[in-house]
Order: sequence, then structure tokens, then C-alpha cells
Amino acid sequence: MLTIDGSIGEGGGQILRTALALSAVTRTPFRIEHIRAARARPGLLRQHLAAVKAAAEICGAAVEGAALGSATLTFRPNAIRAGEFAFTVGTAGSTTLVLQTVLPALIVAPAPSRLMLEGGTHNPAAPPFDFLAKSFLPLINRMGAKVAAELQRPGFYPAGGGRFAVEITPAAELKGLELMDRGAIRALRARALVVNLPLSIAERELKVVRRMLPISRDDAVAQEIRGGPGPGNAVMVEVETASHTEVFTGFGARGVRAETVAETAARQALAYLESGVPVGPHLADQLLVPLALARQGRFRTGPPTLHTTTNVEVIRRFVEVGIELQEESPGVWTVTISGSK
Ligand code: ATP
Repeated sequence: MLTIDGSIGEGGGQILRTALALSAVTRTPFRIEHIRAARARPGLLRQHLAAVKAAAEICGAAVEGAALGSATLTFRPNAIRAGEFAFTVGTAGSTTLVLQTVLPALIVAPAPSRLMLEGGTHNPAAPPFDFLAKSFLPLINRMGAKVAAELQRPGFYPAGGGRFAVEITPAAELKGLELMDRGAIRALRARALVVNLPLSIAERELKVVRRMLPISRDDAVAQEIRGGPGPGNAVMVEVETASHTEVFTGFGARGVRAETVAETAARQALAYLESGVPVGPHLADQLLVPLALARQGRFRTGPPTLHTTTNVEVIRRFVEVGIELQEESPGVWTVTISGSK
């Protein structure tokens, strides 16, 4: 059986999620040891356990070691089952990372699926819903699948309680992507979201973002949601280029000033604009799994993050595919995915 070392490289939850996703698609059983060994609280947290259970459900897998805190897991997949699924992360754990785990299998499944995900939708260190909806999924759709996500309620740490629905029509055949040039900047937008917090927080945040980036008043939107679980706050800066859209996020937290949250989002957007490359650092690591399944793709990005290099290592264990990372010039890298199906 394939054995994956969960402590390599980044040593976090992504190693587990990529292994689960590719195990389901390729029907390869695996055992993972030292799960999240590089984290302060290693082993399976609720969010990772939710990902394991979701992956097991969509491919009828036999699983050993699926318990909170477990550092070892064995996963034996069966054929992919499409259909209706409801996945709940018991806490404010990230629902978008649960989707990241099951999506690769469901876009190559024999039939459409409909998912309901509940938990956190805007979590630090995970793709916020807006990144998913505006950046990641449109690219997955360009690869031939049809995936639509609808946010019903945002969920923030620690209260959770967010919810979104996803409709997936699989691709007849996954096509690769070519994202080599970003082309003209078509739009810059900002949105500051406050849940059960004063709207003035969002207004202060947008003031900072607009001081740092050329965003018009109309393109800077403060959104207030009252009721339900909370509180929560996030600032999202969207950069739409001729190539695709990137979303950069600052997450509010107790004790962190609104101005700092806004600066975090704006700084990432500025760094992206200055870099000149089309693909931002988060998209870079997240595109690798779908492109490896298409066995075709090429994109320009900044220096590979540890998430990217670690993901490449895990993907190579499951899929026979060439993934080349090449530095073209200082700070500019090309990632090329190639192979025969
Ligand atoms: P842990 O690291 O504690 O095990 P984890 O399971 O949350 O945690 P990671 O292995 O750190 O996960 O992976 C996080 C994923 O979320 C990566 O794919 C990363 O690109 C993505 N991500 C993090 N922050 C953002 C963001 N602001 N926007 C988009 N994607 C993000």
C-alpha cells in the first residue's frame, strides 16, 4: 500500500487532503503517517476529520484511524459515487477545504452532484468562500466542469454556522489551463464584510484599502449581516485581469485593529500587482491537483510556496505526471504539468 509521510515539507492538512482527493480519483488505497506533524496540535482536527469522512462518503472508502487527534489513517477507496451530500464540520472549521478534498473526484464522476457544506466559510489560513467563487471555481469551469457555489450564510471562527451549496456537473474530459500572462487589469474591487459587528468597522477598513489601492468609492462595498452566528469580519480585495480574478483576504480577529485587517488584504493585492505574474500564491498550490488530473497545464507564478512544493511531492505519489517548476527570471516561475492520460 502507498504510504504517505504527513510530516514532509509543509507538514499540514494539505498533504492529507491532496492524498484523499487523489486516492478517490485514482482508486489508490493509502496509509498516511505523522498527520500534520509540523503543527502545534498535530493529528486530525475536526476539520480534517470532516474531510476524511466526506472523501470516504463519495467513494465508499473503508477507513481506519478516523478519530480526533489520530496521526495515522488508512483509506481504501471504491468507485466514486456522485449524488446529494451534506457535509458538516462540527465547529468553525473550514468548509472550503472540505470542498477542496471532494471536488477533484466529483468533477470527473460519472454523474452530477449537489453538496451542502456547513461550518466556517471565512477562515484564516484557508480559502474564503469569495476566493472559491470568484477565483478558483471559474478556472475549474474553464477546464470543462460546471461548478456553481452559492453562499447562504457566512461562518466565522469561533462560532461557525456558515453554509453554502455547490452544484457540480462533471467534465466529459478535463482540459488543461494556460495562464501565462495576466494581461490588462480590468477591475479592482473591495468588500468589507461585518457580521453582528458595527458597519463602521467595514467603513474604516475600506478607507484604508482605498488609500492603498486605486479603488473607486462605487467599487468599495461595505456589507453588514445581522443575526445568526457571529461575530465575524473579513476584507476582500479582488483583482480582475484579462486572465482571471484573484482574491486577497484579511481576516478580522479579536484584538486586531480593523486598519490592520484591511492593510493585510491590500498589501497582498499590491504585492500581486507588483509581481506582474498572473497566478497568485494560493491559486498556484490549489490548481496543481486539477491540472495534474487533466495532465496538462502551464502557469506563471511567483516563487513556489512550501504549500506548492509539498503538494507537488504528494501528487507525484498518486499520478504519473510531469510537474516542472522553473525559475524564468528573478521572482518569476513557470509551472508546467504534462503527461499522457
Ligand atoms: P493545518 O495547516 O493546520 O494543517 P489546514 O488543514 O488548514 O491546516 P494547510 O495545509 O495550511 O491547511 O492548507 C491551507 C490551504 O488554504 C492551502 O491550499 C492555501 O493555499 C489555502 N489558503 C490559505 N489562505 C488562503 C487565502 N487567504 N486565500 C485563498 N486560499 C488560501
